[in-house]
Amino acid sequence: MTGLNGVQVSSSAVTTDPLSWLDERATARTAAGLRRHLRVREPEQASIDLASNDYLGLVRHPEVIEGAIAAVRRWGAGSTGSRLVTGTTAEHELLETELAEFVGAEAGLVFASGYAANLGVVTALAGRDSFIVSDAGSHASLVDACRLSRARIAVAPHRDVAAVDRLLAERVEERALVLTDSVFSADGDLAPLADLHRVTRANGAVLVVDEAHGLGVRGAGGRGLVHEVGLAGQPDLVITATLSKAFAAQGGVVLADNRIRAHLIDAARTFIFDTGLAPAAVGAARAALSLLRRDPAMASRVLDRAADIARVAGVPEPTSAVVSVVLGDAQRAFDAAQACQARGLEVGCFRPPSVPEGTSRLRLTARADLTAAELGTIAEVLGEVLAEARGDALVV
Ligand code: PMP
Repeated sequence: MTGLNGVQVSSSAVTTDPLSWLDERATARTAAGLRRHLRVREPEQASIDLASNDYLGLVRHPEVIEGAIAAVRRWGAGSTGSRLVTGTTAEHELLETELAEFVGAEAGLVFASGYAANLGVVTALAGRDSFIVSDAGSHASLVDACRLSRARIAVAPHRDVAAVDRLLAERVEERALVLTDSVFSADGDLAPLADLHRVTRANGAVLVVDEAHGLGVRGAGGRGLVHEVGLAGQPDLVITATLSKAFAAQGGVVLADNRIRAHLIDAARTFIFDTGLAPAAVGAARAALSLLRRDPAMASRVLDRAADIARVAGVPEPTSAVVSVVLGDAQRAFDAAQACQARGLEVGCFRPPSVPEGTSRLRLTARADLTAAELGTIAEVLGEVLAEARGDALVV
C-alpha cells in the first residue's frame, strides 16, 4: 500500500495501533493505585482548602482581584508578545523592582511561570562545559532544567552539604551550579542554605535557590529563607520563585544581580521565546505583595496554622506551610485523601513519582486565613480519617 508521501508501507504496520502502549500503561497505573484524575472545582467551594498553595489566603482578596482587573483594563487580557518584543509593560518592570527590593536582591526578571524561570536561569548559566549538583529533593522543574542544560549532572543526597562539597571539589569543569529548593515541596523541610552557600562559594560555584515555598512564609515578613539566613544580595546566589503560591497569581521570577538579569534577557530561552506574563497576573501579584508588606505578620500566621494542623495530624511541627502525613502505600494515601474530601476537606495526595515508593502521603498546606471554626473541623476530620488509615497500616 502507498503512504501519504508515496512511499510503500506494509498494511500490517498501518493497522497496528501505535499508541496501544498507552492502554497498557493505564492498566498498570490503575493496578498500582497511581491513576491521576482531574477534579473540577466549584467557584464557591464549600469545603476547607488544605490542598492549594494559596498560603496567604489572598487569591480572592478584593485588592488582589482589583489589581488584576485594573491591569487588564490598562494593558489588555494578554501581554501580546515576547518580553523582548511587545510583552513588557511598565507593570512588569514595577513588579520586578518591588519583588527584588522585597527579598533584598539587586534586580528581578519575571517569567511566564516558575517552571519557565527555573528552565531559563539554569540553561542560561550552565552549558555543555558546566557541572551541576542538584539536591535529590529539588523540584521537577530544576530536574528538567538540568537535563536541558546539557551540563554534567550529579544528584546529591537530600540536604547533604558534605556531598555537595566533595562533588564540587572533584569536578573538572570550571563553571558549576548548585541547585536546591529552599523549602522542599513534598515534605516542607528546609535546605541548609548557609552551609550550602559556604561550600558553593569555597568551590567557586553559584547557588540557585528555588524559593517557591519559602517566599511569603519564611523570613521577616515573608521575605524568604535566603533573607532569613542572611544571604540576601549575595552576588553568587540566585533566587527563583513562583507568583502562584503566596503571591496568589501566576508567573515566575528570578531575583539576582543586574549582571545576571542582563544575561538572562540575552540568553534565557524561556524568557526570549515565551510570551510575557499576562497583565492580570502581574497586577494581582503586585497587589498581593503590597498586602503582605502592609501586614507582615501574615507570614508567621501561616506557620502558626501549620503547627495547629500538624498537632491534630499527630506529626512533628513543620518548618513551613507544608504538613506532610506519610501513610506509605499509594492506595492507602489515595483512600485517605478521598475520605477527607468526602467530609469536606480538600487535601493533597502525593504518590510516586512525586515522592519515593512506599512514602505516599497526604500533603496538607496551611493558610494564614484559616479560622478557629475551620481548624475545629480539620481536627475532627483528620482525627477520624487518619485513625482509620493508620489502623489499616498496622494490620498490613
Ligand atoms: N518550583 C517549585 C518548588 C514548585 O513547587 C513549583 C510549582 N509547583 C514550581 C517551581 C513551578 O512554578 P509554577 O507553577 O509557577 O510553574
